[in-house]
Order: sequence, then C-alpha cells, then structure tokens
Amino acid sequence: MTFSRRDFLSTAVLGSLSLGLKGQDTKPQDSTMRRTMNVGSSKRPIIVCAANGFKYLDDAYAFLKNGGDTLDAALRVVKGPEDDPNDDSVGLGGLPNEEGVVELDACCMHGPTRRAGAVGGVRNIKNVSLVAKAVMEHTAHVMLVGDGAERFAVAIGFPRENLLTEHSRKRWLLWKETHSYNDWWGPGLASPDWKPPADAPSAPHSELWENMIKRMEQVAADIGIQPEYRRAAIRDVLFPPKGTIHCSAVNEKGEISGCTTTSGLAWKLPGRVGDSPIIGAGCYTDRDVGSAGATGSGEENIKVAGAHTIIENMRKGMSPQEAGTDALRRMVRNYNNDRDKLRFLDMVYYILRKDGAYAGVSLWESYPDEEQHKIAVHDGSKRLEKTVALFKGASINWPPIPKLKSDSK
Ligand code: ASP
Repeated sequence: MTFSRRDFLSTAVLGSLSLGLKGQDTKPQDSTMRRTMNVGSSKRPIIVCAANGFKYLDDAYAFLKNGGDTLDAALRVVKGPEDDPNDDSVGLGGLPNEEGVVELDACCMHGPTRRAGAVGGVRNIKNVSLVAKAVMEHTAHVMLVGDGAERFAVAIGFPRENLLTEHSRKRWLLWKETHSYNDWWGPGLASPDWKPPADAPSAPHSELWENMIKRMEQVAADIGIQPEYRRAAIRDVLFPPKGTIHCSAVNEKGEISGCTTTSGLAWKLPGRVGDSPIIGAGCYTDRDVGSAGATGSGEENIKVAGAHTIIENMRKGMSPQEAGTDALRRMVRNYNNDRDKLRFLDMVYYILRKDGAYAGVSLWESYPDEEQHKIAVHDGSKRLEKTVALFKGASINWPPIPKLKSDSK
C-alpha cells in the first residue's frame, strides 16, 4: 500500500533480496510498545488512512469540515490512489492477476445510515470504491462480484476502461516469463504441509540466485523495461506486492464512515478476493463505536474478521490501540505464535473511535524493505505517524524464496 517500497531495489540486488531478515528481532514488544502515537486524542473532525492517502487528505478534510458527508470524505481520499496510474496497488495501474487482468475489490460502510456496499473481482472499472457505494445506494444488496458487478457499474454510468498501464503490463510480462511454478498454488502458510524455507537467509546469496537475477535482468531489458525500473520490477516478480488503501472519517457531530479499496495481491489467481471488500475484515464501521480498516495479508485478516473484531473490542471498552493489538494477537494465535510463519505476514490496522481517538497498529514495525509502517492522519494538521507494532523488526516477503526450476530436477 505504499509507494516507495516498490522501488527499493535500487541497490545491489543480492543485498536487497535479503531485506527483511536483517536485524530482525522477533521479541514481542508488549511491555515496551512505543507510545509515539497520539492515541487518546479526541479531536473532531478527523480522518485516518493508509500512507498512500496522505496527499489527498487536505481536500477531504476541507470537505468534511464544511459539512460534507463522512463517507464521501473518505471516498475522496481513496479515489486519489484509484485514479493514480502510478499507485500500482489500487485502481488504475494496479498490478494484475496471473492472467494479466486487473481485478479490483472495495467496500464501504456509512455509519449515519448503518448501510454497507461492496464489490469483488471487478474488471475494467477504475473507481470501485464508488461502485461499492452505488451498490449500497442503488440496490437491496451489500455485495456484487465479478462480471455482474462490472455490468452493474456500467449500468449506473461508470466508464469501462483498460486498467492495465504499460508499467504494470511489463511487470506482469516479466513475472509471466520468469515466475516460479509455486506462486500461489500452495501449500499456503496455514497448510500442515507448509515448510519454512530452511535456507531463506542464505538463498539469495547463492550462485543460482545470482544467475536467476541476471536472467531476469535480460528478460526485463528485452521486454523494454527501462534500466532504472528493472530492479524494482524484479523485486515485484520475486515478491509479489500487495497494496490497498483504507480510510475512516468522523465529523464534528460524531458521524462516522469508512471504506477500503485495492487491486489486491499481484499475480493472484483470477477470482481471488482478499479481505479488502469483506465487510468486517477489510473495513467495519459502527456509528455507536467507530470505524476500522486493514491493509496487509488479506487471507489472515479474513480469518480473524479483523475490522469487526476491533470495533467489538472498542465497544467493550478497549482503546483503539488495545483493540487493534488484540486482533493482531488473534492472528498470532492462529499460528500458535510460530514466528517462522508469522514473519511472512504483514498486517496494519487503521482505527478511529467515534470520539476522534485513533491508532495505527501493525504486526511488524516495517515492510520487508524496512520502510516503517505508518498511518496518515488529518485533524486540522496533516501528518504521518508510525504505527504501534506488536513485534519488533520487519516482516519477510511472501512467498518466500521462489524455488528455482533447476533446484527441483
Ligand atoms: N489486503 C489486501 C489483499 O489481501 C492487500 C494489501 O492490503 O496489501 O488483497
């Protein structure tokens, strides 16, 4: 869900590929959680979102301050990355599925009217967050998927357009030509057959890796990927990025709404839908309590119904930070605290209580490239704040080291 983590492969390839392992300390930070967050703040209006919404916050905040609806304010934020062809995690320019087709997911909840809308696996329509709102407003349903969702969007007036930019198409082509056969077809982390990559830390330094990277660089050149983008493209192929934006907004009166939109996991199986459009996982809003949303490992978040869990925790009296940390602990419990698995997960929750108190919490401190997880906030002053992490250190890219074809023979 961030911009720069995609482009980190600008230094030596082998060093970069081992990122996420360096300096990793998996001790829980429970007792020493940093108190850098402005948790407990109760300033309204306030908008919180993922870091890729930062530059759209001023406009949305002014809209909210002038009496605009809370859901419309949140949608103003997430529409920014949806329209931006350079944000390859959302909307136009999103990285495609394994067949080279961009499939988008989104949902929204309108607190004041206690309504919800969602769409999953939508092709050819850029602003799926607005389509989710249209489902909420113009149908008696909550969720539409695939072809039906696309046809509904067109009927409502959304234009069909090609969402695959040249940038994303070339990266997909590089993946297609060089990808490993074990991407996404399992076994997944949760499978009893899953084995940790025993040689993960050393593998990137092996000669095989060096050869593979060299070959990928050649293919990237043949495809026409510009030299300055080749390393980032290779990284995206080896470690398929995810990406999403969530936004929640509360106005002066305490009306609250939230929405989440994404292109999901790069190179995913066609039809794969993550947590983002699932009401209760990628987003949940209750006008009596607050609103929460997620970015990160979608499959894991679905299993703990993350956003709903957080709202229910706050309903019982937990602070936003405690509520989010508890949801993260449920994810940890699902893996019996097995750090060999948990280090492959990445999870960030964006939490806004009805009174304006908020928190950003994450499983790890940073992405595999060691870029710190952050929450963007606007309550009259716009800022990015570090999340409060359950574990110190960085997550590791998933899937782990792709198996080389020559290894398997
Ligand atoms: N949660 C999203 C998904 O699983 C991806 C992400 O947030 O990075 O589709």
